Amino acid sequence: MAVYFGADYYPEHWPRERWETDAALMEEMGIDVVRMAEFSWEKMEPREGEFHFEWLKEAITLLAAHGIKTVLGTPTAAPPAWIIEKNPEIQPIDSNGIQHHFGGRHHDCQSNAVYREHIRRFVTKMAETFRDNPNVIGWQIDNELGNSHGDLCFCPSCENRFRDWLREKYGTIDALNKAWGTAFWSQGYSSFEQVQAPKITASGKNPSQMLDWKRFCSDLIVEFQQFQIDIIRSICPPSQFITHNFMGFADKVSYFDLGKSLDFASHDQYPGGYFAQAPHQPNERLAAELDFVRGTKEKNFWIMEQQSGITGWECMGRAPKPGQLSMWSMQSIAHGADTIVYFRWRVCTVGTEQYWHGILPHSGKPGRRYQELKSFIHKVRPLMAEIQGVSPKPDVGIVFSYDQEYAMQIQPHNPELTYIGQVMRYYKGFYKKNIPVDFLSDQGDFSRYKLLIAPLQYLMDPVLEKKYADYVRAGGHLLLTMRTGVKDRNNICMSDRELPGALSEVVGLEVSDYDCLWETSLKVKWGSKEYRAEKWSDIIELKGASSLAECASEFYAGSPAVTVNSYGDGLAYYVGNEPGEELMDRLLEELTEKAGVSPILETPEGVEVMSRRKENTEYIFVLNHTEDTQKLEIPSDWESCLEGQEKELKPFAFQVYVKSV
Ligand SMILES: [Zn+2]
Repeated sequence: MAVYFGADYYPEHWPRERWETDAALMEEMGIDVVRMAEFSWEKMEPREGEFHFEWLKEAITLLAAHGIKTVLGTPTAAPPAWIIEKNPEIQPIDSNGIQHHFGGRHHDCQSNAVYREHIRRFVTKMAETFRDNPNVIGWQIDNELGNSHGDLCFCPSCENRFRDWLREKYGTIDALNKAWGTAFWSQGYSSFEQVQAPKITASGKNPSQMLDWKRFCSDLIVEFQQFQIDIIRSICPPSQFITHNFMGFADKVSYFDLGKSLDFASHDQYPGGYFAQAPHQPNERLAAELDFVRGTKEKNFWIMEQQSGITGWECMGRAPKPGQLSMWSMQSIAHGADTIVYFRWRVCTVGTEQYWHGILPHSGKPGRRYQELKSFIHKVRPLMAEIQGVSPKPDVGIVFSYDQEYAMQIQPHNPELTYIGQVMRYYKGFYKKNIPVDFLSDQGDFSRYKLLIAPLQYLMDPVLEKKYADYVRAGGHLLLTMRTGVKDRNNICMSDRELPGALSEVVGLEVSDYDCLWETSLKVKWGSKEYRAEKWSDIIELKGASSLAECASEFYAGSPAVTVNSYGDGLAYYVGNEPGEELMDRLLEELTEKAGVSPILETPEGVEVMSRRKENTEYIFVLNHTEDTQKLEIPSDWESCLEGQEKELKPFAFQVYVKSV
């Protein structure tokens, strides 16, 4: 299946007479695939049991005549008005008990049994209609699952499902009382029926209950997706793949879990950000989200929505500058995307996304964006064929955990401390040095990495403690941070040892006290230089480790701030604070040197370098995120991989090289 470039297409928004023009323009541009129908339930079933797939079949056939295949989305993120009229109870309820209504999207409760029956009827019919269609190559389940469900759903159905989930997990109510520490504030339960979803309270919430609720919500979304996967798998041939479009570090559902039943992960990549909160997202954040999505299934992925114009609903972001859309596309490819589908073919004239721009403007006339992406596609198509399935192979891993993220969201300690924020501090340090990074779950294989960064391992259990110890003992280089080993998996503070618990032996220290740095920072001295750390400071007592840097302010000045300990054949580092950018640079210099990890290429700020590697060939991608022309020293054994590649790196330009390894 040779599919490399696509567009998200909404034929139902345009007159039938226009379709042929669209298909011809797509073919000319080099589009191989469209995604359609993920928001078109009402057009396919305008009344219960009355199905109208003929327009979709016609669009698929017309596109196929131009060599374009189709991915179909199940339209369950927007149930039509007639379903809401018949079953208003399927609309979700927030933590204040307020129902959210029809008129936008995601106005559905994902546990509601009546809604599930509507889905079963519709998805079954849709799958039966398209299972034998040779031009339908795969399915996307729903759209951006978890998106818009920030404070949803606390309806009676979800609350009941939460109780079932708790019964399954704990068996008895006594076990739940123990796990949640309900002795506090008289919260003990005598039956599961008394347990509520964590709705608005008069004051405070139980952190253990909150953590289980977040895990439950993630599991519910995974099960919601599985419900549809099971229908499609039972009807459609295995040659039709099933995927879902993730959203980077969005936190409502574990993408490690959501990815398990998918053939491959997809991702929606919007460098322009959402709703113009900022002109665009930081470059390292874009790179990190791509690496993260690759990590969810430890393999290459699709971009199901790649930005192709200004983003925005009510407000708009900046116009992508000439070259930027191509360079961002190449960034996705550099990090492991095997197909790029652009969102959207043509900006629509109606609805909430009137200003979420596409390849074509409102007028439908091919303009700057069409011409740029057309020449991009024609230029890189031969390369795409060559690198399908070839992945980045980093020496550095960052352990990513939704459990840790959820627990830190519930109690961030310092209001400015976030799990993603700390993960990104470390990621950015490597990104700036052009050292590729994998993200992996704490269930992943640590032994593949020379250097493993494990930020904020706040919740701990004996299995994970042993896994970290074994990794270092066998020669690994591990970095652990502040707030490691504080709590058990029930979000209850451990009291049988000093921090960081059983890992004290591995890092060779104990944390005897700590300081939450509100509205102040900490001076840290490393050799003769002074640096800055933020948000938190452990007060460390060495038990065998060596101090690399010391606190140089506060009442604990002189106590260790960064340490290293020999353990077995490896080294375990510990950082008792959130390093400022310069301290991070110094720290990573130390770590990468000791672990024998080196940059692909040293470049000026704003020039990103990434690689994909197979047996003895490495493909190297050089991306200029800046508005300046950059001159680089390209090693003599790197061969140019694209036709007409210039020596200089123009603003927003990219280069690709190949070398033998
Ligand atoms: Zn609900």
